Amino acid sequence: MDYFSRSQENIETFCLKLPKIELHAHINSSVSEKTFRELLRTRNIGNTQLTSLESSVFRPNEKIFASFDDCFDIFPLIHDVTNKTEAIYKVTSDVISEFESDQVKYIELRTTPREELLTGMTRRSYVDSVLSAIKDSKKKNLDIDVRLLLSIDRKSTVEIAWETVAVASELAAASDGIVVGIDFSGNPKINDAKDFIPVLAHAKSRGLKIAVHLAEIVNAQESHQLVELCPDRIGHGTYLHPEVGGLHKSVEFVKKHKIPIECCISSNLRSASVPNVEDHHFGYWYQQSHPVVLATDGKGIFQCSLSGEYILAAKTFQLNHDELLQLSKNSIDYIFADEETKKKLKFQWTEFSRSLSKSEQ
Ligand SMILES: [Zn+2]
Repeated sequence: MDYFSRSQENIETFCLKLPKIELHAHINSSVSEKTFRELLRTRNIGNTQLTSLESSVFRPNEKIFASFDDCFDIFPLIHDVTNKTEAIYKVTSDVISEFESDQVKYIELRTTPREELLTGMTRRSYVDSVLSAIKDSKKKNLDIDVRLLLSIDRKSTVEIAWETVAVASELAAASDGIVVGIDFSGNPKINDAKDFIPVLAHAKSRGLKIAVHLAEIVNAQESHQLVELCPDRIGHGTYLHPEVGGLHKSVEFVKKHKIPIECCISSNLRSASVPNVEDHHFGYWYQQSHPVVLATDGKGIFQCSLSGEYILAAKTFQLNHDELLQLSKNSIDYIFADEETKKKLKFQWTEFSRSLSKSEQ
């Protein structure tokens, strides 16, 4: 059934009500302006400083960051505001509610365990706060299923990376299935990803799923080494294909193993990672029917929403209602949770399709 031809409903309205799956959302960069302001107000700072901090983090321009490096400068500002466990709990809770309001039915949040000597927050108490917020969101009966990936920041040490995998392994067995894997992220210009490969390989061998940021910049050799790890999903993969400086063998490997690509269009545009939306690599992979999933990366600092990403993809790559529905439904196959969760989600999508058919009769 072609909903597009049968429905007068515009793309924006359709994308807003479409059930969605979010698989690439960093907690700290997903902080909303509202939450950030509320956290700032708990600080004893003047109005001028408050406004200046807010406008540094939430920039009004279309191209928010002048360069790719520029977006990494923002994190110390956010980290300063979320430097204690209460703040981490609040940011996580608010981010979950905000995604739920955007019809996101399943989300995998990711975050780097962080210690703050000033407040006594440890990497472990940080993770515990995130987990408490996720568990409490279940009690609120929100219509969203939440899972967590612990991130390894490549700017950090390999020793901390080993610790992160140990904590994730422990929690995978002791968090009611909330912790499902490991994310590898951070500024791709810092450190050599090769040093972290044994840690990521170990995580895989322990049954943890791995999502790896790679090819965010042109670095074909390093990207290929990460691709050969056969991650369960690829974050961005912007410069993976040969037309933009990647290696043919990397693309062949990704295709052969059908590794899903997490595409964050607004994030890439606003961090000046891709020059314009038409050239975004979503088109390259989607047109070849390769698994792709739309995601926000950081809905706060990149000022976007998951519905907005579907609208942007629809308008740029001429996707109709059927194709958008299929795109969101296919994402269920790429989640890191168990088969039972996939089955439950697929049922929700079937119900949504039925409701569309009924409304059009
Ligand atoms: Zn990311």
